[in-house]
Amino acid sequence: MTRMARRAASLQPTIFTAMTDLANRHRAINLGQGFPDFAAGEAIKRSAVRAIKQDCNQYAPSNGQPQLREAIAAKMSRQYGLQFDPGSQIAVTVGATEALFAALFSLLDPGDEVVLFEPCYDSYRPAISMAGGVSRPLTLRPPDWHVDRDELERLISPRTRLLLLNSPQNPIGKVFNREELRAIAELCVRHDVIAVTDEVYEHILFEGEHIPLATLPGMADRTLTISSLAKTFSVTGWKVGWAAGPADLVEALLRVKQFITFCGAAPLQTAAAEALAVGEDFYQRLKEDYRQRRDFLCELLADVGLPPLTPQGTYFVCVDIGALGRGNDIAFCRDLTERVGVAAIPVSPFCSNPDDGRDLVRFAFCKSRPVLEEAAKRLRAGAGM
Ligand code: PMP
Ligand code: GLN
Repeated sequence: MTRMARRAASLQPTIFTAMTDLANRHRAINLGQGFPDFAAGEAIKRSAVRAIKQDCNQYAPSNGQPQLREAIAAKMSRQYGLQFDPGSQIAVTVGATEALFAALFSLLDPGDEVVLFEPCYDSYRPAISMAGGVSRPLTLRPPDWHVDRDELERLISPRTRLLLLNSPQNPIGKVFNREELRAIAELCVRHDVIAVTDEVYEHILFEGEHIPLATLPGMADRTLTISSLAKTFSVTGWKVGWAAGPADLVEALLRVKQFITFCGAAPLQTAAAEALAVGEDFYQRLKEDYRQRRDFLCELLADVGLPPLTPQGTYFVCVDIGALGRGNDIAFCRDLTERVGVAAIPVSPFCSNPDDGRDLVRFAFCKSRPVLEEAAKRLRAGAGM
């Protein structure tokens, strides 16, 4: 008999853990779990080492070190024209993951509904249900993953408390355009819905522009904007994230956060504050670098008969396997890992209705050139298998 509580028993090991384990067992190239396999920048590493050596080794304030909150406020003002008071409107969290979790736990009462866009990042639905909330997904469909305004409005009920938006969106690589964001903002205002946005891929974007939902009319006072250092600075293991928004929403988040972790790693916050002072050329180089990786992988996939759905943002590309006759997403990924030696991620676990993801698999291109080239060799060799 299980000794797990029902809450834990209802959760499965994540698909990232499962596929990384399978990849390791078969010595496959891991294009599954999304983490850069290349070095983080020297400057950010030096800052962290210096902070530890200078004995920045005790608890940070629960809402984060002042210099990091100030750096986040300055970045949001400079890049998006959004103004936040570092004292009351910004909270530093243990990655975007904790920010999302604490936001949901502090804003949802049992039975409250959350509108979200699927296929969505895997932590959203378990976090919503652990908080007592109910997910109301709008399924987006390839190739353009368009948001239908009327379909979205039909999901909104008197119980709708939150709308959760991830742009650029993992796993589908969609960047929400201004027209879609306008429709979303207008519905949030009309139905008095709070928006929580996950913008961790804000700087990994190839088409269009990143438009924070908080910049749309009527949204500044009803949006909690979440992001993190992980993707932009290639430090997914640091888990330094933040949430910015109206003081009452940030206060709510902090009341929960103080009893999850109280605070995040202090020396990494010092290093994060220094990192966020980088100039705009850093972000330009990041985009260009990822564009090259994206183009390399998309061309390769097309070449080996795996039609890519070219992403507008994120470091993922989905492939539509519907017409290939090689089984569903899970069978396809298992087979590709075991026989071809390249691991990818099935998309059905990102969907409330697994059938919505059965024809999609996701490849990560946040990998070094030799690794992508080895994947290319194996995929070419396996193309006819
Ligand atoms: N949101 C999305 C959409 C992600 O892809 C990730 C990365 N795994 C996260 C949140 C988690 O970010 P962090 O590592 O900062 O917790
Ligand atoms: N965000 C990463 C991805 O989507 C993985 C995060 C994790 O392993 N939990 O692949």
